Amino acid sequence: MFVFNKMQRAFAAVLVLSAPPLYAEGLIAAEAKAQDKVKVQTDAAAGVLTQVHQCSPSLQLRSVALNKQQQSQNCLDLAKVEQRFMWLFENPKPVLHDGNMMLRANIYQSKQQYVELASQHFLMPTDNGGMYLEGLPHLKGNQAEFVAYQRDNGEVWNLGHEYVHYLDGRFNLAGDFCANLHDSHAAPENCPRPAPLSPYLVWWTEGMAEYVAHGDDNEAAIKVAKEKTFPLSALFHTGYEKNTGSDRVYRWGYLAVRYMFEKHPDKLRQMLVFTRSGDYPRYQALVNGWGNSMDDDFSLWLTTLPAPAAQTTKAE
Ligand SMILES: [Zn+2]
Repeated sequence: MFVFNKMQRAFAAVLVLSAPPLYAEGLIAAEAKAQDKVKVQTDAAAGVLTQVHQCSPSLQLRSVALNKQQQSQNCLDLAKVEQRFMWLFENPKPVLHDGNMMLRANIYQSKQQYVELASQHFLMPTDNGGMYLEGLPHLKGNQAEFVAYQRDNGEVWNLGHEYVHYLDGRFNLAGDFCANLHDSHAAPENCPRPAPLSPYLVWWTEGMAEYVAHGDDNEAAIKVAKEKTFPLSALFHTGYEKNTGSDRVYRWGYLAVRYMFEKHPDKLRQMLVFTRSGDYPRYQALVNGWGNSMDDDFSLWLTTLPAPAAQTTKAE
């Protein structure tokens, strides 16, 4: 509580000096409150996740029971994911006002411990395999967090996929999670209702996380591709609440992103100009302008995908 009051006073001082409009006061106070609440909870997490291992300047692992070999292996795996991301996006610069210099991965000992503690520590739902929490990247002191757990074999579920969410948020998508066009209202962000109108970016964020984490080796996605369930133009409207489902979000998101990378990198470059500058209305206009012009070619492309060499597909 002490931290909270101190922060409140600091913000109050800023408000008096600069006298911003009322709506900005409300926004800043709400952001400060949200950030401080998170800080109090994550301090409690530090008492449980006592092992700290720094993989690189941009990645820290905080865990209960990862052994040294598992820590090193996770660092190596994620370094490969980061390299692939940087290669695909030609060494991008961080988006404006993004202070998320480092991702902290918080890894509980077991699913049971995750369910028991992660919601208290990070104010998040735990009916999932792990979550990436971008926080408010424009605020000083913000910490990007990935929260997950070890499986019985020591592997950390979804680590590569979630690390890509961090990189995507830092290098491709301006603003916080609520700004990035989707229809989720889940905790801890509780993005306001009503949701924006589609097209969204769910196909991109989830599909790209799968594409960078797994490359061409995604057996589950290649299997559903044969069913030709969705035209590409429909996938741009994929959401978390409506027009959703595990296959649609992750497998079809992967297929849409891979197709765009392989067949239309020019269009992706154009799209990224808008998402990186936070000009989401122009992103939507661009996607609406594409209409169904790529649907036939996408449908054909789905039939040409070769079976992956190995079977290491993970999702979500
Ligand atoms: Zn994801």
